[in-house]
Amino acid sequence: MKHYDYLIVGAGLFGATFAYRAHQAGKRCLVIDKRPQVGGNLYCEEVEGIHVHKYGAHIFHTSNKAVWNFVNSIVEFNRYTNSPVANYQGKLYNLPFNMNTFYQMWQVTTPEEAQAKLDEQRREALEAMQKAGVDAPRNLEEQAIALIGRDIYEKLIKGYTEKQWGRKCTELPAFIIKRLPVRMVYDNNYFNDAYQGIPIGGYNKLIDGLLEGADVETSTDFFANRAHWESMADKIVFTGKIDEYYDYRYGALEYRTVRFEEEVIDTPNYQGNAVVNYTEAEVPYTRVIEHKHFEHFGEAVYNLKKTVISREYSTEWKGESEPFYPVNNDRNTALYEQYRALAEQEERVIFGGRLAEYKYYDMAPIVERVLNMEV
Ligand code: UDP
Repeated sequence: MKHYDYLIVGAGLFGATFAYRAHQAGKRCLVIDKRPQVGGNLYCEEVEGIHVHKYGAHIFHTSNKAVWNFVNSIVEFNRYTNSPVANYQGKLYNLPFNMNTFYQMWQVTTPEEAQAKLDEQRREALEAMQKAGVDAPRNLEEQAIALIGRDIYEKLIKGYTEKQWGRKCTELPAFIIKRLPVRMVYDNNYFNDAYQGIPIGGYNKLIDGLLEGADVETSTDFFANRAHWESMADKIVFTGKIDEYYDYRYGALEYRTVRFEEEVIDTPNYQGNAVVNYTEAEVPYTRVIEHKHFEHFGEAVYNLKKTVISREYSTEWKGESEPFYPVNNDRNTALYEQYRALAEQEERVIFGGRLAEYKYYDMAPIVERVLNMEV
């Protein structure tokens, strides 16, 4: 039987990027994945000529030129600028929070007027923090109000966040909302990064390019025959759930998952944008993705007569489907630390990615981490 330098458990972005680098370094890699296909949550399927992001929309963005050049050396990326729109009770607001949003919310037209409104709106949270004698927001609600004020919190953040995480904003960590920029200019670009795009031809091209040179076995569950797989290589790269790796000995970490309701619609342009967030609590889904807008722009939208949308329903992960988001609250953070302490003692196992590091990772930092690793 062939022996490998690395057994890589999981063919998502971390595993595939690692396989690529190891192959470049002359190492032999075996990549196994329990799903029938590779790509983890980047996996796309073509429906009506459109690449449908089967496990949720992915937009690659980074300011790291080395990372951008690296992914573009595997497959060329387009320039896609993410500008989600929020729908609250039928009224539309631009995201991220910028002069357009402030105009829509308060009819202010200059940065000075907007700033005065924001200062007034933020005061509540700042006073509460002062009273409590803390200098940093204690939870997501306090963070949101300190960042952007109560009006925007109530209309654009509270309902969406509580649907997405299934927990009260007062019970969620502040850092989740720090991802969102606040801008005093009319600029609906969701990301601050210098580079942003989608692989031309879809994410499967990126993953297939990264996995070239590795042996790959899909529909293969590491845990079904762990000793066998572990004996196949000198070192292991594990990208699955770290709590499962340790047989849940300290308890199970919590995750959110997303259910997608996909629909082909007989119209070329359903919502005029790739991403529309539904920010009120009463609408059961968090957002609607119209996939064609990631790769077909302007008049080209009308070249395909149909469109494909996915409504996203966020629920607690109970072992079905795939875990998507780690829930980084105090309980899980403390639990993860226990597992991390075990992981640090491992000499032949590398843990990486959203599930193994229990981290709300974007794609670019994953690639960056692997590019900086010794292989
Ligand atoms: N968020 C929000 N309203 C929105 C969009 C995002 O309150 O319309 C908050 C929400 O708490 C979410 C976080 O911002 O969890 C990060 O959102 P992002 O769109 O970056 O999440 P992802 O695309 O990773 O699911």
